[in-house]
Amino acid sequence: MERAIVKGSPAQMLNHPWVYSGNLVECKAEKGASVEVYSKSGVFLGSAIYNPESSIALRFYSRKRDKLDYYAIKERIILADGKRKRYFTEPYYRIVFSESDMLPGLIIDRYGNGFVLQINSYGMEIRRSEIVKALYDVFQPDFIVERSSGYSRRLEGLKENSGVLMNESGLDLTRVIVAEGGLKYYVDLLKGQKTGFYYDQRRNREIIESYISGGIVMDLFSYVGAFTLRALRKANKVFAVDISEESITLLKENVKFNGFSEDRIIVEVKDAFDFLEEVGSLKLKFDFIIMDPPSFAKRGRDVESAIASYIELVSKGIDILENKGQMAIFSCSNYIKWEHFASVLQRGTRSTGRSFSILDYMYQDFRDHRVPTNFPEAEYLRGYIIKEDI
Ligand code: SAH
Repeated sequence: MERAIVKGSPAQMLNHPWVYSGNLVECKAEKGASVEVYSKSGVFLGSAIYNPESSIALRFYSRKRDKLDYYAIKERIILADGKRKRYFTEPYYRIVFSESDMLPGLIIDRYGNGFVLQINSYGMEIRRSEIVKALYDVFQPDFIVERSSGYSRRLEGLKENSGVLMNESGLDLTRVIVAEGGLKYYVDLLKGQKTGFYYDQRRNREIIESYISGGIVMDLFSYVGAFTLRALRKANKVFAVDISEESITLLKENVKFNGFSEDRIIVEVKDAFDFLEEVGSLKLKFDFIIMDPPSFAKRGRDVESAIASYIELVSKGIDILENKGQMAIFSCSNYIKWEHFASVLQRGTRSTGRSFSILDYMYQDFRDHRVPTNFPEAEYLRGYIIKEDI
């Protein structure tokens, strides 16, 4: 293996899985290659994949002198599954979460015995066939789908890449079933969002369901209705709004699939901000409003505009919130920290003249979306439930 020489404190570098390009002193390896990393003073720091075109030049996958070949990938996948399966009685979870599993830039979600992968680093991109072979040899899967898209891929100089890598089962991959919390969902693994289903919200669905009792619920940014179905178990009526027509089609199928009466649900394909304006003028009020928007801050410099969007959601949401109502709001960007979000609530509620208290904090389900203590960047999902005091 080639060597990479880096500057900066070895102690710090031993305690974080990335080396930024500014700290790289020398590396002659090819793009995507495995390299042994040394400090300028000669301390060995670990093995990493190299991308000279990314601002994250090195991503560690081991603290020893290891290759990242088929065997290493297979071993890490088995280890990653072992860390998770004890927590889940059913095989629906994120099995590999990138740096958190020492497979930097690789995400794999599990759907029964099928898998969806998302590749976000050049080092993983050129190891696709080893990844697929390892998954195949460990699980003999029904199917493997790739859904590699999104901003982090662009930062690595990669284009979008989606498709079916294998489907020996012949299953209809536009209607794969996910079981969660006693409910079943159809998801479209070929055209749905991201890797198909948001396992990261699993615990928050339980939390939110526990606070709903009767009344009318609004599920804004509903996707295929994971929160909607939870709400249907507790509320009288549920509104679901999403900008994507495919998502709303699946949501309606999911309502039927679980035996809920269709007249308890009202759906709309619409931009959430426009919807809030319109419904505001109808004077319709909701007892519980859930808002789970896509990431508004993909980069550090988006933070200010993201905060402005969240404030708008909170204040417009409150306009249509019943007296003593509750509201859940999420952010799924690592750049929006708790202190940003606290200020969103403070500013978003201030103009309404009503007083609210925090009922709960919510996070990604850490059991499968793991956050190593030396990699706080892996924590990205934050949410609040607030309630009007009187
Ligand atoms: N709460 C869902 C996940 C929501 S993901 C769950 O737990 O499964 C975010 C959703 O917001 C996506 O379905 C996307 O189609 C939708 N979306 C994105 N921009 C939107 C907009 N401006 N208005 C309404 N929906 C939007």
